[in-house]
Amino acid sequence: MARDTGAQCKQCRREGQKLFLKGERCLTDKCGVERRSYPPGEHGRGRQKQSEYRTQLREKLKARRYYGVLERQFRGYYELASRQPGITGENLLRLLECRFDNVLVRLGFAASRRQARQLIRHGHWTINGRRVDIPSYQVRPGDVIALRASSPAADVVRAATELTGQIAAWLQADHESLTAKVLRAPERREVAAPVQEQLIVELYSK
Ligand code: SF4
Repeated sequence: MARDTGAQCKQCRREGQKLFLKGERCLTDKCGVERRSYPPGEHGRGRQKQSEYRTQLREKLKARRYYGVLERQFRGYYELASRQPGITGENLLRLLECRFDNVLVRLGFAASRRQARQLIRHGHWTINGRRVDIPSYQVRPGDVIALRASSPAADVVRAATELTGQIAAWLQADHESLTAKVLRAPERREVAAPVQEQLIVELYSK
């Protein structure tokens, strides 16, 4: 399975904001953006050219990096979103938000999407009683998520729950039993991603 293995702090610095890609480290003063708040590279502190295309492209890259999705799959989400009824940008964000790896982060069961993906790929989770090892799996309302009873990852998952603040209203989590339920699809205002989806739609519509 192809995945983004790039240096994560550099990705945040390139986007000029914290994307919270590294779990606990992102909450400390070791954060790359806190320490060096300019883009990476030899010319990082030089003047940045601005254009409409560049702004749209950066927004797409930011969304891809935030959710950890490569270009081909991201394009696939856009195609699917544009065929769904409603606003394409909101559909796109909903599809990204309902990825299983993102949902584990939102539930507080993983400190980062990269960690969530590893836990999923190693078969530690079930949905509706069946093992699911596909990070891009789309969760649906009514799905019941649970850590497998025999999983040796319980300590890692419990450590992640301690970093968690509020759980999104469309999800319900039980941090004692390490189970959760998807109550409904998320609404746009409930998606905490730092993304202006309209810019991405404009880019792909060219
Ligand atoms: Fe981004 Fe986290 Fe690195 Fe800070 S520590 S730059 S938020 S990945």
